[in-house]
Amino acid sequence: MSYPSSSSSSPIPLSNIYSDKVANVLCRIPETSGALSLLDETRRLKKARRMLVAEHVYGLVTTEPVLTCQMIHEMTGLIVLSYEIVRKPGGNDGIFLYDGLMRGSAGEHFGSREQLLCFDTKVNGNDTKHVRRSCHPNALLKHVVAPEGKLGVILVASEDISKTMEVTLPFDADWRDSNSTLECSRHKDDMELCQMEKERRALAADRSLYGSSNDLNGNEKGYN
Ligand SMILES: [Zn+2]
Repeated sequence: MSYPSSSSSSPIPLSNIYSDKVANVLCRIPETSGALSLLDETRRLKKARRMLVAEHVYGLVTTEPVLTCQMIHEMTGLIVLSYEIVRKPGGNDGIFLYDGLMRGSAGEHFGSREQLLCFDTKVNGNDTKHVRRSCHPNALLKHVVAPEGKLGVILVASEDISKTMEVTLPFDADWRDSNSTLECSRHKDDMELCQMEKERRALAADRSLYGSSNDLNGNEKGYN
């Protein structure tokens, strides 16, 4: 497929590249009050950067202590709808599913699952392309809608994080649909200890027994 190029040389707020379909979704969403100043502050005060966390393995690591709910770093990349990109359920290789646009104030989902966004941070990405997943993550993604239908997505601490600690995100919402081993940074040396991997493995075994299949655009399984 080909992606449109709607990037700009303007530093704010045009860091991302959007597919036409994403642009059509974003232009219908109200602007977030104070979005530009929030993004500007996040860029000036970013609290993490790429560092080696194991041999030949990069992660995103804090450069100062971060308190719960504080912004850590903006995530940038190519933003497409989930069905516009080939991805592994649960997330992998710098591709992040973002369902925050399709949640109401109480956390409930609305809209079509096909309208879930995907960040491909290998395109136009910054240090957040190295963020790894964990069954015990310490950060999550939040968004603001800037003027002209531009989106800012920010890693926010979900717990207090000390200086020089790796920042991790949850697996994508459809991790239960994965038929391959999760890549959990916490349990990478012994995935037998990872409860999420145990659950995923059991579900995959059930699917192979009963022949059921599900994916992001299929039934509701794994989407919560
Ligand atoms: Zn784990």
